[in-house]
Amino acid sequence: SDAAVVPALVIGSGYGGCVTALRLAQAGVDVHMIEMGMSWDTPGPDGKIFANTTTPDQRSFWLRTRTKQPLSNFLGFPIDKDIPKYTGILDAEEFSGITVYQGRGVGGGSLVNGGMAVTPRREFFGEVLPSVNPDEMYNVYYPRANAELGVTLIDPAWFDSTPAYQYARVGRKHAQRSGFPFVYVPNVYDWNYMKQEADGTVPKSALAGEILYGNNYGKKSLQKTYLQKIRATGRVTISPLHRVTSVTPASGGYTVTMEELNTTGGVVATKSVTAAKVFFAAGSIGTSKLLTKLKSTGALPNLNGEIGQGWGDNGNVMVGRANHLWDPTGALQSSIPTAGIDNWAAGGAFAEVAPLPTGIETYASFYLSITRTPSRAQFSWNAAAGKVDLNWQTAWKQTSINAAKSIFDKINAKEGTIYRTDLFGVYKTWGDHLTYHPLGGAVINKATDNYGRLHGYSGLYVMDGSLIPGLTTVNPFVTITALAERNVEKIIANDF
Ligand code: FAD
Repeated sequence: SDAAVVPALVIGSGYGGCVTALRLAQAGVDVHMIEMGMSWDTPGPDGKIFANTTTPDQRSFWLRTRTKQPLSNFLGFPIDKDIPKYTGILDAEEFSGITVYQGRGVGGGSLVNGGMAVTPRREFFGEVLPSVNPDEMYNVYYPRANAELGVTLIDPAWFDSTPAYQYARVGRKHAQRSGFPFVYVPNVYDWNYMKQEADGTVPKSALAGEILYGNNYGKKSLQKTYLQKIRATGRVTISPLHRVTSVTPASGGYTVTMEELNTTGGVVATKSVTAAKVFFAAGSIGTSKLLTKLKSTGALPNLNGEIGQGWGDNGNVMVGRANHLWDPTGALQSSIPTAGIDNWAAGGAFAEVAPLPTGIETYASFYLSITRTPSRAQFSWNAAAGKVDLNWQTAWKQTSINAAKSIFDKINAKEGTIYRTDLFGVYKTWGDHLTYHPLGGAVINKATDNYGRLHGYSGLYVMDGSLIPGLTTVNPFVTITALAERNVEKIIANDF
């Protein structure tokens, strides 16, 4: 129906999608960006754009009628509750054996994530992206990504004095007493804003428990970084509440078919656009699902056999510890994590001290660990059900649990403490049913060439976390951003 051919169409508006759209637009290319989630720029009835973690509402979850909180229980009691079905911000997407949490909206995962912005240690880069030249990444693209994203470190003096990081100081003390290396974890949160929150001079965000369902003030999500620059180019059209369902060859490029959604998830229109070049940046899960379906159903039959392979969970596992009464972790906890235990070299685990912003003293220490795990799953097309499956096995988390236990068993022994068993169910110690860090499914130099060009078709590219084969040794978004910066530069130079 559309006579005009779009020069470049980007599917998804997370890190990979935003880097792609910005650099193409700056090079003079008109871009159409398609995003299945909402634009998140209009306040709700409470005057806030985003809901708080303590009071989830319809804005909090993607098309669910009941919340599915990562910490499902507290003191043994289930805390999930009914909510109206809505195109909310956090998707808890369930596959057999694992729930994958993802952001939905213009800005992708940057809307919901903890803002931890970590560059992998260079000596481990070979296990992250073995085909990518580390010199160019560490000299050019990691610095570029860190600068664009606004990554900084907390002021150590403020860390040492503010009640809001009591929980992280307890985490540091326990790590150091057991001989584990403690590190500050860089973040994209505006630390000056957080200091003003603590002083009571600005509306609170990190100090009001905002994180999982969006952050109203201090976090520099993509809305405040790449997307601002994207808008300033005047060359990028963004279509929120549009979900791409098909990409197929056409004269002049590819026909991209999409469904326009209403806020209860209903399809109000089906549209198609012809694009000369199409960039898949729907996230590891979104891109892998699309490519697996399109290959299997004959829309893009020449994609190679690596499509849907090499998916990993970045070794995510969560656990809580119960401290003694002389180690309170604070009723006020900043929702922005900024401390960690780097035990990768010795034990294959990077454990972040995470907040439990409940508003009451819990005497709990809570950790999200990223661990080295060999397990990789694959996506496949389930023709009978008309959907894409992932063959992850819950038992594959045991390697991750063991890596985390090598830290926390030792700390518990030293401190005379025990694990919490009330956070993920009744008598369930390990949060081993989920990941925040889906990676892989269209791995670089396998499903694509060494710059993200899909094998089998010219003018189709992968630009997101699906390029990374399952593990980044730290939190992934800086690496996703840096890799996209590297690849898009090459693509603009050679393919346009
Ligand atoms: P995404 O950011 O997932 O963007 C993909 C976008 O595509 C989404 O907006 C999605 O709605 C859209 N999309 C999907 N399918 C379609 C379709 N068919 N049509 C149109 N649009 C589509 N990482 C860190 O580094 N540090 C952290 O502190 C951190 N904390 C996290 C906390 C949580 C709760 C979660 C869920 C994630 C966290 N992450 C963190 C992970 C990080 O957010 C992701 O790794 C990152 O967002 C992935 O970037 P991406 O570009 O690959 O895809």
